[in-house]
Amino acid sequence: MKKEQVEVLIVGAGPAGSVAAGLLRRRGIDVLVIEKETFPRFSIGESLLPQSMAYIEEAGMLQAVVEAGFQYKNGAAFSHKGQHTAFDFRDKFSPGWGTTYQVQRADFDNVLIREAAKQGAEVRFRHVVEAVDVSGARPLVTVRDPDGDVYTVAPKFLLDASGFGRILPRLLKLESPSNFPVRAAIFTHVEDRVPVGAFDRNKILISVHPEHVDVWYWTIPFSNGRCSQGVVAEKSFLDRYAGDDMAKLRTLVGEEPGLAALLKDANWDTPARQIVGYSANVSSLWGNGYALLGNAGEFLDPVFSSGVTIAFKSASLAAACVARQIAGETVDWDADYARPLKAGVDCFRTYVEAWYEGSFQKVIFHPKGTPEIRRMISSILAGYAWDTHNPYVAESRRRLGVLEQLCSA
Ligand code: FAD
Repeated sequence: MKKEQVEVLIVGAGPAGSVAAGLLRRRGIDVLVIEKETFPRFSIGESLLPQSMAYIEEAGMLQAVVEAGFQYKNGAAFSHKGQHTAFDFRDKFSPGWGTTYQVQRADFDNVLIREAAKQGAEVRFRHVVEAVDVSGARPLVTVRDPDGDVYTVAPKFLLDASGFGRILPRLLKLESPSNFPVRAAIFTHVEDRVPVGAFDRNKILISVHPEHVDVWYWTIPFSNGRCSQGVVAEKSFLDRYAGDDMAKLRTLVGEEPGLAALLKDANWDTPARQIVGYSANVSSLWGNGYALLGNAGEFLDPVFSSGVTIAFKSASLAAACVARQIAGETVDWDADYARPLKAGVDCFRTYVEAWYEGSFQKVIFHPKGTPEIRRMISSILAGYAWDTHNPYVAESRRRLGVLEQLCSA
């Protein structure tokens, strides 16, 4: 069997893998990326947060992303029973990017991995990681190539960016249950035919079901006259609806009058898909010679579009640690990787939990929100969940609790 060596092996060419590859190449480190699909390929996760732009820039991929012609995004709009509110991410507490893009992930992921390859990363599409042994001095990774031949790679360091594939969590039994209930999303792309001016295409629209506050819809406009349209609910709730995924999605859209009116002329030309039970966690984000990035580590929930931002943040933190380790330094992976990453993830978690309880919705829709507090909330919605200068990050649970009481009074 062929045996190879490389400095860093990355499993998966999604956002986490590509940005990690770019960041490592910029530090002069040899990188091999193993990706089981051919690109472009469909992926979910189409609305980015402004915080993510800092990592695209850090990885030297900004120009390519800007030139790709994606839909400009400057905020998030929310709608529930005729109430509307919008956050403009340019008006926020934390410094940094206030705008970003809504992207067809097939194209976006392709742009990022091509940029990583231009920076010198070797990328092998249609190669599948099948087994991993981390008991030795170096990880030993078994890969199957497109012809069915198997070879091994022994990297100095292994980054698992396999997303929902969750290669290392499964193979090394690191999976631990998420504390969220089993939710599912049904989604498709439509030609929306919304008249110009009838809808702010620069914002993601989050609509809440009129009767069920834990059921919500995303409408993510693209730059080509199409939208990504999805609905999220507990799996058991979606199972009550008759028909296939498209029938369920259209019935549910019909139950939200604002959304039904917006999409009244839409051409539903693409089959709907369903993803179930995507929330996931692990017992550890790192181990002997390896670390987990992005969704291969933890995935919370889609409601605040935080997934790609967290994937990039993990890539940025891990690339710095890997570079130091390869240079011979001792790295404290808990202190320098896992804990800093989790700090922001836990902040998002507080707001996700409060969203489904309905309490954060009270804050979002409250008519008398003070501008200063709205700017702090805007920062978090823009992805700045690691900015501890923001009191709603540093003390998210307590501050949110106080705010909710004020909004309920
Ligand atoms: P991925 O993007 O999943 O990439 C992993 C790659 O690894 C894939 O290309 C896969 O083919 C490859 N791979 C897997 N197994 C193997 C193997 N054995 N060998 C080789 N390659 C392998 N995030 C947002 O930021 N905004 C949103 O609006 C948003 N909406 C979402 C809606 C839903 C319903 C869900 C479920 C998620 C959403 N997310 C969103 C989250 C987003 O999809 C993910 O967080 C993001 O794609 C994670 O990136 P990643 O690089 O970790 O993994």
